[in-house]
Amino acid sequence: MSEADCIFCKIVQGKIPSRKVYEDDEMLAFHDINPLAPVHFMIIPKKHVDSLAVVTDEEAPLLGKMMAKAGRLAREQGATDGFRTIVNTGRIGRQDVYHLHIHIIGGPNPLPRMIAKE
Ligand code: 5GP
Ligand code: ZN
Repeated sequence: MSEADCIFCKIVQGKIPSRKVYEDDEMLAFHDINPLAPVHFMIIPKKHVDSLAVVTDEEAPLLGKMMAKAGRLAREQGATDGFRTIVNTGRIGRQDVYHLHIHIIGGPNPLPRMIAKE
């Protein structure tokens, strides 16, 4: 996936609108267009990175910063008693959008368990 065709790069550039949760120089958080729970937003790096599968030590500080923001942003969005972070990666991980993103999912009720066993 090239950056020119990337939906999330277009969201970063403001070419596609999004409901913003948080933004700084390096990352953007915005609500998922198809929320799976009352709280469902994503934290993405502004820089294009395809997926967690290709992350290197170079991106480690940025990923750390993204994770470090999750708790505060989740609480601000109403997930006051926990939430789930999901990073779908590649074909097996059923990644749909190839711009690295951390889903933050929660709400008033406990979520289903991890994944269904086969
Ligand atoms: P993935 O399956 O790659 O982990 O998740 C991609 C997510 O991006 C999906 O949950 C989908 O609803 C969300 N999404 C796809 N296109 C858009 C969009 O244009 N705007 C927003 N806000 N979310 C999107
Ligand atoms: Zn991108």
